[in-house]
Amino acid sequence: MRRLRLRRALCLLLALLLGLTFLPFPATADPGLTEEEPLEPPEGLDEEAERGAIHAQVSPGVRNMVKRAYQITDIQWTPKKDIEGWKNREANRFLAGHTYSGIPYGQAHRSGSYVPWQTAYEEFLRQVNNPNSPMYTARAVSQLAQNPGPYYCCDCSALVSWAWGLPQREITNTLPQYADVIGTSLNSLQVGDCINKEGTHARLVTDITYNSRGVINGVEISEERQPSAKRFWYRSSSSTRPLTALQTEFLDQGYVILRCRTRESIGYTHSCAVPLAGDLCPVCGANPFQDLNLEKWYAEPVAYVVNQGLMSGTSEDSFSPKAAITRSMAVTMIWRMKHSPACFGTLPFTDIKTDAYYYPALCWAWHQGIAAGTAPDTFSPKADCTRAQLVTMLWKAAGEPQPQIAELPFKDVRKGAWYYQALLWAFGNGVVSGKSAESFGPSDSTTRAEAAAMLRSACILLGIFTGK
Ligand SMILES: [Zn+2]
Repeated sequence: MRRLRLRRALCLLLALLLGLTFLPFPATADPGLTEEEPLEPPEGLDEEAERGAIHAQVSPGVRNMVKRAYQITDIQWTPKKDIEGWKNREANRFLAGHTYSGIPYGQAHRSGSYVPWQTAYEEFLRQVNNPNSPMYTARAVSQLAQNPGPYYCCDCSALVSWAWGLPQREITNTLPQYADVIGTSLNSLQVGDCINKEGTHARLVTDITYNSRGVINGVEISEERQPSAKRFWYRSSSSTRPLTALQTEFLDQGYVILRCRTRESIGYTHSCAVPLAGDLCPVCGANPFQDLNLEKWYAEPVAYVVNQGLMSGTSEDSFSPKAAITRSMAVTMIWRMKHSPACFGTLPFTDIKTDAYYYPALCWAWHQGIAAGTAPDTFSPKADCTRAQLVTMLWKAAGEPQPQIAELPFKDVRKGAWYYQALLWAFGNGVVSGKSAESFGPSDSTTRAEAAAMLRSACILLGIFTGK
C-alpha cells in the first residue's frame, strides 16, 4: 500500500513537472457529463465467509436490485480489437481477446451513441458481436476518432443506475436526486445503499452480514471500476480488506450513503445471457426445481413470481406446482407483492404465534382489511386458501377497484356471493380465468401454479414492479 502511494506521488510529481494538469474535471467538460475518477482497487483476495454470520433480510424490491447488480458484475464479453478506455489511459484499455466482466457503458453519452443506458445486457452482447452496430467492438476505435467524447469505460454509476431501476443512466452527481442521504456511519448501512461521492465514485452494497449481537461484520460491494465489474467483501476479520477501511477510506473521505427512494418497486428481468442462481426461465431452461415442467402452461407465471421474489420453492429443488397454498402463504405473497410493509400492531387471533414467519405479513394484511379471519378469533393459517379467497385478497390489495364487467359466465358462482365484486374485477381484467368456460371452482383450493398466475397478472395490471 505504501509503495502504491509512493508511486502515485511520483506520478503526480512527474506530471506536474511535465506541465500536465490533473484536474478531476476538464474545464471543457459538459457539467452534466462529469467525469468520474475511479480509485485504486482495494488490495488482497476475498476472504472465506465469516462463520456464524447472519445475512441481512431484504424485501423483494431490494433483492431484485441486488440481482440486477449481479447481472452486471457477472456479464462477460470479449472485445474483438483493442479499445481505448476511459481517458485514453493505458490501464483502462480493453484488450482484444481478453474477457471482461461488466458492461462498458459509455461515460459521456447518457443516451444515444455507442453504449446507451437503455441498452440491456442481452442487447449489449448482441451489439458488440454485430458488425453493423456502432457498438461492434472491432469498430469502436474508428468510431471514437469521429467523436472522441464517449469513451468506453466500465462505469460505476451506470451499475448503480441500472441496479436502482432508474429511468436513465445517471452519474455520481445526479444519483442523489433519487435517494435519501443517510449519512456517513457504517452502522446505518443497508443492502441496496450506494456509497457515493459526487464527481468521484459510486459503489453499491449488495449484501451485509451481522454477528450474533446484530452488529455489521461484513459488507459486500458491487462496483464497476476499470476495466471490469467486481464483487468483494469487507469483513471485520479481514486484514487485507477490513471493514474499518470502508469507514476510513470512504465514509470519512467525503462519501455519503444514498438510499434509493424507489427501492421497493424495483423489478427484475432474468437474462438468458447472465442466468443467476435460482433464476427460472422457459426460454433458456434455467430451472432449479426438478418438479417443474417448463413446457406447461404455468412456466411463465411461475418464472415471474420466482424471479421477482414473490414465491420460492417448497425445498431447494422442488416447487410443488400442484400443491395447495395455505391462507398464510397467500397473505405472505400479497404482502411481498405490496413491497413487504412493516406492521407493529397486534392480532385478535388465538391460532397465530407472533414468531410465525408470516406474522408481519398477516399483521399488515389484517390491519389493511385485506385478509379476514375465519372466525373473530381464528385465522386458520394452515387451511387451504380457496380460489374465491385469493381473488378477494387480491382485489382488496388493489384497493377494491370498480369492476368493468357486470356478469360472469360461471354456473358455480352465485350472483351476490361475498366474493362476487372481487371476481368481476379479477375475471374482467384477466387476473384469473375459469376452470372451464362455465365453472370457476370458487371453493376449490388454489394450487401454487394457479396462485403464481393470479399474482403475476395482478402485478402487471397494477404496475407493481417498475424498472426494465
Ligand atoms: Zn433464460
